[in-house]
Amino acid sequence: MMLPVGHPAHIAVTIRKLLAYRKLDKRKTRLYSLSPRAAHGALVVIMAQQPQLATRVVERFLDYVTYDTQSSDDSTSFPSTAKQLVFLDRLVSDLQALGLRDAVRDQYGYVFATIPATTRKPGVPTIGYIAHVDTSPEASGAGVRPIMHRDWQGDDIVLPDDPAVILRRSEHPALAGKVGEDIITASGLTLLGADNKAGVAAIVALAEYLLAHPEVPHGAIRLGFTPDEEVGTGTQYFDVTRFGAKYAYTIDGETLGQIEAESFSADSVNVTFSGWNTHPGLAHGKMVNAIKVAADFIGRLPRDRLSPETTCDRQGFVHPYQMEAAVEKTSVKFLIRDFDTKKLSEYEKFLQDLAEQTAAEWPGASAQVQVTESYRNMREVIEQHPHVVENARKAIARAGLPVLDAPIRGGTDGSRLSFMGLPTPNLFVGEHNYHSRLEWISAQDLHKAVEVMVHLAQIWAEDAAE
Ligand SMILES: [Zn+2]
Repeated sequence: MMLPVGHPAHIAVTIRKLLAYRKLDKRKTRLYSLSPRAAHGALVVIMAQQPQLATRVVERFLDYVTYDTQSSDDSTSFPSTAKQLVFLDRLVSDLQALGLRDAVRDQYGYVFATIPATTRKPGVPTIGYIAHVDTSPEASGAGVRPIMHRDWQGDDIVLPDDPAVILRRSEHPALAGKVGEDIITASGLTLLGADNKAGVAAIVALAEYLLAHPEVPHGAIRLGFTPDEEVGTGTQYFDVTRFGAKYAYTIDGETLGQIEAESFSADSVNVTFSGWNTHPGLAHGKMVNAIKVAADFIGRLPRDRLSPETTCDRQGFVHPYQMEAAVEKTSVKFLIRDFDTKKLSEYEKFLQDLAEQTAAEWPGASAQVQVTESYRNMREVIEQHPHVVENARKAIARAGLPVLDAPIRGGTDGSRLSFMGLPTPNLFVGEHNYHSRLEWISAQDLHKAVEVMVHLAQIWAEDAAE
């Protein structure tokens, strides 16, 4: 519930926030020695000095989610589905209508545009904001009907097009702090697509805001919209040089105030067992069944550790996720994940040894292990450019939010872009339960994300040498 301004409990909350941010925002530090009432009054003044971020981000979001932009795992074209191009073209016309004349889509689908600098200060780096337009193949994105639950009071949200789909506060702890906010969901048959149309809408709203407020000092800002992130190929034809930013942020994160500058390091491993096939009626003493060898091997994998289902936080795993089985040859595909890149080769050695030991116990069988690099922990690149994260932290704090550092137990386009020469951590935009029919976002979080992006652009300009 929202506390009325001036209510003693509201002031107590205000003071707690001041304490939490005093290290990060000098203007607020000074308030700490004031009485609660005086501090509250001063905070109101500070808030009034901040840009009034009345953007149309929510209206844009509600419009954008109605485009079906689902990507596909089974496609050989790029982008994987042509319907993504329809929405990407819509974005080009939206950006041009706002006045971004260089907005353009290339032959692969990438849309780039520039918000020109308003500061004359030299040495302000060009920063980029990036979002992906596709939605996950895991849930339908056709005919999305977004519903805004205004001033949500904490009750179960029953999605009308399939009343069996119910969003309950008890099952989704992230909803706990959202009472009184405007929660947006889909209608029960589809995902919502906040992942990542919330980021898309936030970036377009940012452009609209900054163009209307040339008094806000910032350097050049490049905007990028990409296809096919959900099928892992979103950066395949991303031209980092043509994008032209020095640092970038994907706007594709979850919890309010979160910054993700660390991802898994990832390889994939293919373990192939070879046997000997012959007519089963005449197989005595001859047949070597690779399926049985592989099954024996899988049975020897650890059960209480090194698995997705038994690890969390910073622990890594080896994960068999697909198998192709026949008597002559059986192969098992693994995902190998850890935050510490060095551990990947330990895990791979472990699989190699286990496969060879197993095969050795099946006379006539042999094992072959093939490792393919997938992506690396973006921290390895980003920590060489500490300002990228520091400035984001400052921007989040300046928007009055607690800063949450979270490692991603997965990869983002930013992981790959970082290694392509564009350090790119991920910022929150408020997406929750993504890839699911229970996906939701708070309209208030979406507004906050735009505010953080405005602060961040200004901080890069303040930060540059005179
Ligand atoms: Zn996403």
